[in-house]
Amino acid sequence: MALTKEALFALVALQEKDAVLDGIQKEIDAVPPKIAAAKADLEGEKKHIEAAKAKIVELEKRKKAKELDASSKEEAARKHSTQLNELKSNDAYKAMQAEIDKEKAAAGDIETEILQLMEEIDKARAEEKAAAAEFKKTEEFAKKDIEKLEAELSHAKGVHASAKAERDAAAVPVPASAMKVYEHARSRGKADAIVPVVGDHCSGCQINLAPILLGEVAKAKELVICESCQRILYRPAKAPSAA
Ligand SMILES: [Zn+2]
Repeated sequence: MALTKEALFALVALQEKDAVLDGIQKEIDAVPPKIAAAKADLEGEKKHIEAAKAKIVELEKRKKAKELDASSKEEAARKHSTQLNELKSNDAYKAMQAEIDKEKAAAGDIETEILQLMEEIDKARAEEKAAAAEFKKTEEFAKKDIEKLEAELSHAKGVHASAKAERDAAAVPVPASAMKVYEHARSRGKADAIVPVVGDHCSGCQINLAPILLGEVAKAKELVICESCQRILYRPAKAPSAA
């Protein structure tokens, strides 16, 4: 892999552009989960309303059943009352009267249960109202949040496009062979695919480099790769600060 110092420095310049691009991409990637979270919050509030509504429906159903039950008991008591005078024996009269009293008492108990259910319904309606108000508030916040996030996203995409153009321009002077090794290292998660030799060690993994390898790096006639971390090595033009 023959190359020149200039090609190597072009690769370093490309890496700087790639780092900028990576940073912008990270910003872009962070936005959709935030939008999803805002939407999920809203869905959660909606579920509270739905739960309150379902509770009201269920209570109303129970109330309706109790009302039917109470009116059938009252109806039975009424019917038996009209039959009282037709009874001939005193015992039969007493038995019927006891039956009527029982039916009236049962109807009374059911009425009490209905009143309790009505209280529960009022409470559930208040819960529904509170949930609806909470939803409205959350919805306003979420709308503003999402608008802001979408604006951020679109801005970041614009910045990314121009940074990408700069990056592509920086890639032009890099020889294909060097590019291949560079991209391979990057694809394996090494954002710093090309690293300077500092003193006598690789600044990527800190391993000490053999003198023969250091000599090859200094000559920069070929692509030299750290055997330990697979990063491309170069000797900076100026003495590097202790990095
Ligand atoms: Zn290394």
